[in-house]
Amino acid sequence: MSTFKAPKGTYDLTPPDSAVYLAVREAIAAPVRRAGYGYVETPGFENVELFSRGVGESTDIVTKEMFTLTQRGKEALALRPEGTASVLRAALEGNLHKGGNLPVKLWYSGSYYRYERPQKGRYRHFSQVGAEAIGAEDPALDAELIILAVDAYKSLGLKNFRLLLNSLGDKECRPAYRAALQDFLRGLDLDDDTRRRIEINPLRVLDDKREAVQKQLVGAPMLRDHLCEACKEYHEQVRALLTAAGVEFEDDEKLVRGLDYYTRTTFEFVHDGLGAQSAVGGGGRYDGLSEMIGGPALPSVGWALGVDRTVLALEAEGIELELPAVTEVYAVPLGDEARRVLFGVVTELRRAGVAADFAFGGKGLKNAMKSADRSGARYALVAGERDLAEGVVQLKDLGSGEQTAVAIDAVVGELRSRQG
Ligand code: ATP
Ligand code: MG
Repeated sequence: MSTFKAPKGTYDLTPPDSAVYLAVREAIAAPVRRAGYGYVETPGFENVELFSRGVGESTDIVTKEMFTLTQRGKEALALRPEGTASVLRAALEGNLHKGGNLPVKLWYSGSYYRYERPQKGRYRHFSQVGAEAIGAEDPALDAELIILAVDAYKSLGLKNFRLLLNSLGDKECRPAYRAALQDFLRGLDLDDDTRRRIEINPLRVLDDKREAVQKQLVGAPMLRDHLCEACKEYHEQVRALLTAAGVEFEDDEKLVRGLDYYTRTTFEFVHDGLGAQSAVGGGGRYDGLSEMIGGPALPSVGWALGVDRTVLALEAEGIELELPAVTEVYAVPLGDEARRVLFGVVTELRRAGVAADFAFGGKGLKNAMKSADRSGARYALVAGERDLAEGVVQLKDLGSGEQTAVAIDAVVGELRSRQG
């Protein structure tokens, strides 16, 4: 214990649990990489205005959840609360959209920060893996991203997740709907905050989780009935492509998501084993975002999946990932000469692709064998003066206890042949 603790709402990832997080990140990234998405990394902080404009002034993220940083006399910065605005900014700044090859497909993985009330599945520092396809309007692209997320969850063995799907319309049909919804909402009995929200972003009132609000929303005008022909047709195509790919979804006409920039396709993945923090990932189309942050018109679509909650979902389903062994071979030297020789063997093993570790710190045989067991290694390599005099080391199978003498220069070959 030190004097310090991890800050409120954060936690450390340490072995062995950290291996699960890495595996989840990799499992989410694998399908997008196979689909031609390139890796992008952006700074952990950005000009605060990128988020207030890009994520939306009225969103929870901007009004309540941003960690802002002051810089002497310069514009304020914010720790990134989400990835899309930064990734789009980076794509525009790097002129990736001018390469003549749209859409620009990018994926990312990293830390995000939101000032939230910490609880299970809701932290102030959390991890997301995200994917964005920038600069194309094509229902197949929306479907592609959704399918890739589903495949990622499935590759982890998850079963109890559901895909909620909606269309938010576009600049043709949304304004009239927005006005109709505002008319309806203004007639309800709502608190001041919510009343303000009606004026700024009425669609988000539909998303209010409070039962007292939800009750009053019965009979609210629904966007589904206001979608223009183009949006309807687009949405039908997305749905048909998902169905053809064997992806099940639930139409959720109240799904508006927390960010202002979404248009047309929006979706969320929820997991039924997580209680209140049930959203494991979400995304949608954001055709207007580029222009909102000063770029050209670039219709785009993307998602971000939460790593922390995906790990919780694995726990909820009792899934244990098959992780590669941290250590396959553990070397136990008895004496100085054996230390030199076995240290050399360990180095060679590692170079040959075998995960190997060594009894550091001059442990005695008993302690070293305990460490070998704890390391999870399948084999121990033990050598003392007499072995070395005979030019061998003892290869011990820690499972069966069986022990064989192997010539020192044959050890690497022998262990490689036993691998896999
Ligand atoms: P919620 O409704 O639970 O607040 P959100 O809509 O704010 O989620 P997004 O901005 O869509 O979440 O982020 C995508 C994913 O990132 C979420 O589905 C969730 O898995 C994860 N996530 C978001 N905020 C947090 C957080 N504070 N702690 C842990 N994971 C988070
Ligand atoms: Mg949130």
